[in-house]
Amino acid sequence: MWIDTHCHLDAHEFGNESVAQAALAKAQGVDMIVLPAVEVANFAIVAQLAASVDNACYALGIHPIYVPHAKEDDLRVLREQVAAAMDDPRFVALGEIGLDFFIPMLTEPAMRDKQVFFFREQLKIARDFNLPVLTHVRRSQDVVLKHVRQIRPNGGIAHAFNGSAQQAQGYIDLGFKLGFGGAMTFTRALQIRRLAADLPLESIVLETDAPDIAPSWVHPGRNSPDQVPRIGAVLAELRGMTVEQVAATTTENAQNVLPRISVR
Ligand SMILES: [Zn+2]
Repeated sequence: MWIDTHCHLDAHEFGNESVAQAALAKAQGVDMIVLPAVEVANFAIVAQLAASVDNACYALGIHPIYVPHAKEDDLRVLREQVAAAMDDPRFVALGEIGLDFFIPMLTEPAMRDKQVFFFREQLKIARDFNLPVLTHVRRSQDVVLKHVRQIRPNGGIAHAFNGSAQQAQGYIDLGFKLGFGGAMTFTRALQIRRLAADLPLESIVLETDAPDIAPSWVHPGRNSPDQVPRIGAVLAELRGMTVEQVAATTTENAQNVLPRISVR
């Protein structure tokens, strides 16, 4: 049994195949797929997709790349929809939220400030509803850590983790798990592979970030959630463990950090 803790199955790259892709993943033992939202316009879409398959759940949030188009009122809508979704057993977290200081347009001073404002307000929503967060962290490890440390949501997942061992420990100390996926399958990704091998297994969850971050054997093609077991096998090899151990522990870790998840 496996959990894909981060997958954009509603992305346009999947066309009308989203439901079929979830079934394909299920056939490979992927019993749960977490679908993060990226903007108000797709809140209903991820919720409906999660409801229409038996192995998906969802998160609600405004992704940093969507912040330029977001209005302050979107935060009110988010808070309202989170309040309503607390009755939905398929709703598990606040996300995808975070800071992207890689894309040039997002690093201009005014946009940097707007990103930080949206990130902090969403961390407060997570804290108020006692929810974990799914974070997008790009060239912003220490700034994300600073705001999480100040506002303290109920843990979370640093998705597609790509920081230092010290930054990893910073997240772990705040009740976070670190998401590893396709990036770890490239032999040149020395730092990520070293961390995947050395971090406590209890701090690691698996993800695809499909349709993005394809593993080496799919690259440059479209990633999909049925790749999780093979990605997990890479982690097992890096750590000198059995695939069964990696599957069981990463599944347990995902359930611990996303306590609302119920694998059906
Ligand atoms: Zn994402």
